[in-house]
Amino acid sequence: MSNFSPYLERNQAFAASGAQADVPRIPFVPFKQLYLIICIDPRVEPAAVLGVRLGEAIVARNVGGRVTPAIIKDLAWIVHLHENKTPDADWFEIAVIHHTDCGSGFLADDGLRAGYAARGGWDEQTSSEMAVLEPSKTVQKDIAKLRAAPELASAIGNIKIGGYTYDLATGRITTVVQPG
Ligand SMILES: [Zn+2]
Repeated sequence: MSNFSPYLERNQAFAASGAQADVPRIPFVPFKQLYLIICIDPRVEPAAVLGVRLGEAIVARNVGGRVTPAIIKDLAWIVHLHENKTPDADWFEIAVIHHTDCGSGFLADDGLRAGYAARGGWDEQTSSEMAVLEPSKTVQKDIAKLRAAPELASAIGNIKIGGYTYDLATGRITTVVQPG
């Protein structure tokens, strides 16, 4: 019995429901033209916290929900596809969401960060910048990063970007940077 076994069963039920047919076609334009950047923390699962449904949004998740070079490369690919394959579709909107009590905060611990770097993780400088200690501040930093990314320059004026914080205690999202 693997931890994954129950999901094989849930997948059977999903497939039997026919819901897989109700999705955008490739090259796809998500139903809600939304691109979410959010932490991998299971407590901030977008389907539960935001009610995101199948086909509505692209969801990029990493430690902290941070705008890293990897996140920017993926975004650049989607921008490139949009410009070349679906130029007449509306532009998507990006929502960056950082949350309270984020595990990325442990990256502020000198010992943990040094050990992580030693095993081949991010270098110490990058790691310390990735710690989400004040979500409302880091989310603003990451939006500035998106706006300054040369890979996105051709499109960034067309893409709305919003910044949000999620409070684990209350379950509420707060708008920090109005989408624009
Ligand atoms: Zn987190």
